[in-house]
Amino acid sequence: MTPLPEIHLGQLLRTGQDAHAEGEVTELRYGQGGEQLLSFAEPAPYRVDINSVGGDDFYLQGYFRPTLQSECARCLRDVEVPLDLKLGMLMRFDPNVEVPYIEEAESGEELLMFGETRLDLSAFLAETALVSLPLVVLHDPDCKGLCQVCGQDLNEGTCEHMAAVPVENEHDLPHPAQADSPFAALRDLDLPDDDSDPDSSVKS
Ligand SMILES: [Zn+2]
Ligand SMILES: [Zn+2]
Repeated sequence: MTPLPEIHLGQLLRTGQDAHAEGEVTELRYGQGGEQLLSFAEPAPYRVDINSVGGDDFYLQGYFRPTLQSECARCLRDVEVPLDLKLGMLMRFDPNVEVPYIEEAESGEELLMFGETRLDLSAFLAETALVSLPLVVLHDPDCKGLCQVCGQDLNEGTCEHMAAVPVENEHDLPHPAQADSPFAALRDLDLPDDDSDPDSSVKS
């Protein structure tokens, strides 16, 4: 259990002096009552600075570099997704706010409402990381996926069904003589840009 990513805003509220916090988190609890848990593949460094922009309004900036655990959309193997996130968020102090929340400001920008001088950044960091995760994660842009009949991981070798399926990208398949090489999988990871992507060959 790592220390909560907290920032203390008492001095900022009293004297206008910038508030600062930095550290590392290995997991974050978020959601109503903190029942959701987001774990990182390795300690995720963050840094947050908050300064006054007048009245009860403040601006938060900094960075958060979490490595999220996801899975390849085609072959389902685990994939670590490192993110390098820039943080930027307007904040407003309102002593009536018990649990910080994000609302839309008059300007249309997002506004983090808070009411305590000790602000737990867990939910803010967790949600920032989750919305930044790509919708489709691939362990390799050339991932061959799974056989739809038997589930064989086609990155690791072919199966009997491959003969029945028309092979579209013949040059992408391992040469029979190389298929059993222990480095066959590694070589696949270093393939150049996927030139078999139908979209990339469309001329406009
Ligand atoms: Zn894959
Ligand atoms: Zn198969």
